[in-house]
Amino acid sequence: MDSTDISAYFLDCPECDYEWRSHTPQRCPKCARSMGTTCMLESTQIDALMVAVNENKYGTNSEDKIMFILAELMNESWSEVPTAFLAQACWMYLRDQPSTPEIEEGMTFFEERFLESVDLLDA
Ligand SMILES: [Zn+2]
Repeated sequence: MDSTDISAYFLDCPECDYEWRSHTPQRCPKCARSMGTTCMLESTQIDALMVAVNENKYGTNSEDKIMFILAELMNESWSEVPTAFLAQACWMYLRDQPSTPEIEEGMTFFEERFLESVDLLDA
């Protein structure tokens, strides 16, 4: 599967730790004992995301700030959260919202962050 496809979920199996990509949540293809789990935003992260998107803060410095705010909300240090996972979770949430210019701009922003970081994950 194309690793630069932002619409393919990062899934991992809680039973055997197998990791794979799929466009839909699915049962582990290796052991079949469990559904794959993926990175989903929590309500506080969604609130922070929507504030950032609707205020349209996409300056050079504020881009880092948006990602930092979201990473903080994940209760993990910045370095522990792969940017691609975070950017994908944000993009997928925005994809399911009614389309507005701000939502579209937000999706573009997170897809760019995703493409910048996803190759590093596969390396
Ligand atoms: Zn498994």
